[in-house]
Amino acid sequence: MTLEAGVVAVQGDVSEHADAIRRAAANHGEEVVVHEVRKSGVIPECDLLLLPGGESTAISRLLAREGIDEEIVAHVDAEKPVLATCAGLIVASRDAHDERVDTLDIVDATVDRNAFGRQVDSFEAPLDVEGLEEPFPAVFIRAPLIADVGDGVDVLATWDDKPVAVRDGPVVGTSFHPELTADARIHDLAFFENEEASL
Ligand code: GLN
Repeated sequence: MTLEAGVVAVQGDVSEHADAIRRAAANHGEEVVVHEVRKSGVIPECDLLLLPGGESTAISRLLAREGIDEEIVAHVDAEKPVLATCAGLIVASRDAHDERVDTLDIVDATVDRNAFGRQVDSFEAPLDVEGLEEPFPAVFIRAPLIADVGDGVDVLATWDDKPVAVRDGPVVGTSFHPELTADARIHDLAFFENEEASL
């Protein structure tokens, strides 16, 4: 069976995530077709979904305008896997402490936008991630801080004692950008080794 993957493409980085999904699928001997999601009607056909980084205020506004927001929530209600990265995690959160971001509340955590600093403060760090044997090269770009996580949320990685990767049921969220290196293990973890999701 060929898997159908959706990368929300209203704004932000798309092609790197599509490549990472293809690499992770290939590692598992799975065939995958990646759809760029700009309109409603695509997500209901998707087995797995990616919410990329970019600018969370713009992403949030466009999701609501296109009616994609409700489709993402329905996808999670059906326990299908989602990976939400950086601005995608901000949009996925319970509260982003910013009235311009209408959050989806699919990850029971609050976030602070740009808490790790401005664009110039972006950095790369080797990160120990639960479920990965070797550290992951994590690239942080104006990354959100995960401020407060609910009881049902697993913290998969911390940096400087702060959570930077979490799992809430079928949804994995990272404050860093796992698509910017050739390493597809986070996509793998979110989609193909996520025991809390049904692929
Ligand atoms: N700080 C950005 C925002 O609030 C996210 C940055 C990113 O996705 N690299 O949307």
